[in-house]
Amino acid sequence: MDLLTETGWTAPPVTAVPALAEETTCDVAVIGGGVGGMSAALRLAESGRDVVLLEAETCGWGPSSRNAGYVTNSIAADPALLAMLFSRSKVRALFQFAESAVEFTQDTIAHRGIDCEFEKAGIVQAAISKGQLRKARRNARIMAEAGSSAEFVEGPEAGLPDGFLGGMREGVGGTLNPAEYAFGLRDVVLASGARVFERSRVREVTDGDTGVTIRTAHGRVHANQALFTTNAYGKDLSISPRRLVSPVWTSLVETEPIAPERLDDIGWTSRAPMVTAHMILESYRVTPRNTIVFGTRRLETTRGPLLARTPSTRVVDDLVRGFRDRFPGLGDVAPRRAWGGWIGMSSTWLPVAGEASPRVLYSLACNGHGFAQAQYVGHLLAGRLTGESMPADLETIWHGRGGFWPSFVSSPALDLGWFGDRLSDRLAR
Ligand SMILES: Cc1cc2nc3c(=O)[nH]c(=O)nc-3n(C[C@H](O)[C@H](O)[C@H](O)COP(=O)(O)OP(=O)(O)OC[C@H]3O[C@@H](n4cnc5c(N)ncnc54)[C@H](O)[C@@H]3O)c2cc1C
Repeated sequence: MDLLTETGWTAPPVTAVPALAEETTCDVAVIGGGVGGMSAALRLAESGRDVVLLEAETCGWGPSSRNAGYVTNSIAADPALLAMLFSRSKVRALFQFAESAVEFTQDTIAHRGIDCEFEKAGIVQAAISKGQLRKARRNARIMAEAGSSAEFVEGPEAGLPDGFLGGMREGVGGTLNPAEYAFGLRDVVLASGARVFERSRVREVTDGDTGVTIRTAHGRVHANQALFTTNAYGKDLSISPRRLVSPVWTSLVETEPIAPERLDDIGWTSRAPMVTAHMILESYRVTPRNTIVFGTRRLETTRGPLLARTPSTRVVDDLVRGFRDRFPGLGDVAPRRAWGGWIGMSSTWLPVAGEASPRVLYSLACNGHGFAQAQYVGHLLAGRLTGESMPADLETIWHGRGGFWPSFVSSPALDLGWFGDRLSDRLAR
């Protein structure tokens, strides 16, 4: 099996835009060219601002092109936990935010003409045990009460693979090829008038009396305002609020192509993309190239720098073991490649945006469910930077100024989560 350091979905852009190698000024500097930063830069450029976008590698290089491609209205935590911790109106507002993010992404695909294999597919939070089925039923009720689109499905008419008993089907969103999307959005941004510099890692951001100064290895930008959308990598910028982000490495595996009849034979007639209701979810989806992409299940973290890396064999072996357990009818299907990326976890597990200093805004994208949400937040923050009043969806996730609680993320805690899930699997058997 190939272990990749970049996305396995599609080849990344062959040439990078030249790096920043001068001193320049602009209205707004955006740091980090994932879907969040690109979306912000696009809106700023289209509203006539002189915008500089600085990306450490090439735009879309990070999780934006590596993720599993679920365009989802999930908010990271379990809906039941959200309902326990927050008021009914806050839960409603969070799901409203998440659904607006899905709509925003769908509109972007349609209006920008991004060819990315989007399918409105109805993602299912699928249950592999009676306990998980009860959880799915309860979550569907909580989401419906919060005004969100979700329904409980059960039995053979759910069209899920043998061994999956039913679940909660989201009524919005679907799946796409995230790399086609991210690199397609990059083309749109490059054509928008935004000044993009790739291979331009920002080393320092200072907000002083005369504006914001941003330093890279070979250049400097003086901006009136700035926004950083560096996701997990935000931990390395000294201007970041205290404890803004904990990095978590997530891995995906893709199989060889599988004949469609074999998916019918195992009962996966709906082809619905699935996530399981474990503490650390497992995801399984069929791709347009007739492979299955599966992942997460076991997470890793680090206190050190976030280096480019491949998934570890320990995690990949465990993912393949999980695939064999869930799909005994596909026991001969070979895994072909694996890749992964750094997710940025906030200590609240909720999406957050706020102010790092008077002229510098940030977003932290959404705890592993941020593909649609990150770009929507980027778009909303760009609106703030052009003087728009605070929209309700941004207010919902607004943190303002200041630091965060300590995070629970640590290697022992993540291993414990994995262990708890395996124990519940064993009890379910
Ligand atoms: C394996 C995996 C599977 C996932 N699956 C899903 C899914 O199915 N659905 C979903 O909704 N979400 C999923 N996610 C999460 C989702 O991909 C992210 O939440 C989302 O892409 C975040 O976008 P972003 O623009 O905020 O950040 P990123 O995509 O992380 O982009 C940040 C960018 O900032 C750049 N950067 C960092 N530091 C600097 C610096 N100092 N200077 C300049 N540039 C810098 C990086 O190079 C990077 O390009 C998954 C993530 C992973 C890793």
